[in-house]
Amino acid sequence: MPTRTIGVCLKAQNNPFWSDVARGMQESAAARPGIRLEVHSPERMSQLRRQAGIVRRFVREQVDAIILAPSDPALLSPAIAEARRRRIPVIIIDSEIEGAGAPFVGFDDFKGGFETGLFLRSRLGKGDKVAVIAGPARGSYTRREEGFLKAVRGHLDVCAVRRAGFEEDLSYSATVSIVRSHPSVRAFFCTSDNMALGCASALHDLARSDIHVCGFDATHAGLLALKAGRLLSTVSTSPETMGAQAVATARLLLEQRRTPRRQLAPVELLTKGSFAKLPKQAIQKREYRIVDAQRHMKEFDYSSLPDSLVCPIVIGRDSYLAELPERLRALDADKYFVLTDHTIRRLYGNALQRSMERSGMRTSLHSTSPGERHKTFTTLNNLANSILDEGITKRSCIVILGGGVIGNMAGFLAAILMRGIRFVHVPTTVTAQIDSTTGGKQAVNTAHGKNMLGTFYEPEFIYIHPAFIKTLPARQYRAGMAEAIKHGLCQSRKLLGLIDEKKYETAMRETILLKTRLLATDPREKALGLILVYGHSVGHALEILSDHRLAHGEAISIGMMVDARIAVLSGIARPSLVAQHKEILARHGLPTRIPRDIPPAEILRLLMYDKKERRTHLPFMLLERIGRARREPVMADEHIILQAVRASY
Ligand code: NAD
Repeated sequence: MPTRTIGVCLKAQNNPFWSDVARGMQESAAARPGIRLEVHSPERMSQLRRQAGIVRRFVREQVDAIILAPSDPALLSPAIAEARRRRIPVIIIDSEIEGAGAPFVGFDDFKGGFETGLFLRSRLGKGDKVAVIAGPARGSYTRREEGFLKAVRGHLDVCAVRRAGFEEDLSYSATVSIVRSHPSVRAFFCTSDNMALGCASALHDLARSDIHVCGFDATHAGLLALKAGRLLSTVSTSPETMGAQAVATARLLLEQRRTPRRQLAPVELLTKGSFAKLPKQAIQKREYRIVDAQRHMKEFDYSSLPDSLVCPIVIGRDSYLAELPERLRALDADKYFVLTDHTIRRLYGNALQRSMERSGMRTSLHSTSPGERHKTFTTLNNLANSILDEGITKRSCIVILGGGVIGNMAGFLAAILMRGIRFVHVPTTVTAQIDSTTGGKQAVNTAHGKNMLGTFYEPEFIYIHPAFIKTLPARQYRAGMAEAIKHGLCQSRKLLGLIDEKKYETAMRETILLKTRLLATDPREKALGLILVYGHSVGHALEILSDHRLAHGEAISIGMMVDARIAVLSGIARPSLVAQHKEILARHGLPTRIPRDIPPAEILRLLMYDKKERRTHLPFMLLERIGRARREPVMADEHIILQAVRASY
């Protein structure tokens, strides 16, 4: 047979599990003449979501068969559709998903769960119960759970938590509540080692060494916990076998031979005893990046966050100088570059740098002039050169400390520096804590407008500490709350109540929740996500025309007044909507009128020109009433917009 190319899309290069899968594939391909592998994978898991277009092109242009591992349906579906269109074989290789009508290669999760259950049963006394802390109800997690339940029938007392993300923290709080409410529980089965670690931390804190914890996956951290006796067992699997099976299946399909629809790689139950016999390399190989469970985090109700949230948000409790370095160290960077502005450098940056250095991290601190007018490519370029001078590498990590301006700008720098390096957001303004750091939008301004150069790029995590807000000038605080009020006006009267009660932290969390839920349904803000830019069209124009005399939040406050008038003039809302907006915004010290020195014609000029093209209509997300936005944007014509603008002086 002529040489055929099997394309492989894997989750991430920097994940040892997937590099082992790739090794298994390479070995299998090398043993079979006429097969060439072409592997495509993002460097990091966090880049996965941006790959859909690349993957589709890859399938379209280069390969005779395709093995797909990414579990994100947004990424898989276009690739599968393209492969079907080209009539080339598709193999799915990922234990988190199954189906999509393609042959599937994965682990024998059911067996792993079943063997764990049998092993645990032998340890339980009469009347002892077990609890399950399960991952999301899909694919491998469900099969692990099913296998386990089959083996422990009669001993099961309670099942908890079925959600992706924040695994350790979720299982920590679930464990605490189960132990308190189910006194006969003597063992936990967690469907991943990450969750098992959270569970073990909780049991440690509750001083319940009599309760066993079993995990799954044999991650590096899981194996170490097994060795230390914190886990009773975990389940090891063979990524290399899985890789080899996938290549073998692809080859059979290329030869148009029959293949099994489902192939499962073997699993092995590891206990403290069997662990001692494992070669050292086997442990080192499985070194996944894991953020340790933090006790203080259990107070945040993660269970209400959407599954698709891509990066953890940590709410600080104790001193940021103690908590933050600890979290940063877990990223294991060769050097940390704290980027901030001159004001925040004085207030928090120097102290943070000292504390990070005391914790053993190589750290350098860089600052820019504060203010929106410095959110430019020139500042970004200077910043880039100064960190490059200091020897930043792909293994370094940028820590962005500050408001939305440095946050957006340095986030953009992180995205484009060496085609993307890791970064962490540490927001210090209300705007940045409740809004600008979530959603992954990074940008700088150009002479043509705000945020004209930018991209989507996610941090490793966001660390929010409400204490930073204490030093924020009152005007900045009010301006920041405008974004929270925006969410309240568009989606939640409850949030408006929280803002009225002046409970900053509660309002901040609620705002983040509302924003992340919106992004979960519309990550690129094309439809419902346009709620996020309520008041922003006119607001942006006002920011520019006032030469940034108006703060961002102040400008969008006025922008929301104009949008309320457009809703009324378009017949979508009752006239009282305008008075309600005015009352709420003014109550929180926000401006509601366009400054007299900004002429309506100038605002229209900025609004209606898109590049060189003159538009006659613009899309607006409008409110039907307080707390309820329309589900689709409305095209408003320029006469209505002008009328609404004129009425807003
Ligand atoms: P900012 O970053 O300019 O900060 C405001 C001022 O407060 C600065 O002078 C800063 O030095 C100072 N400051 C910051 N933290 C402080 C603290 N704890 N104590 C005392 N002073 C402090 O402004 P901002 O309002 O945070 O952000 C506005 C920017 O955010 C705009 O550029 C806007 O486009 C952007 N933004 C982006 C998004 C997004 O989704 N990407 C959303 C909203 C806003």
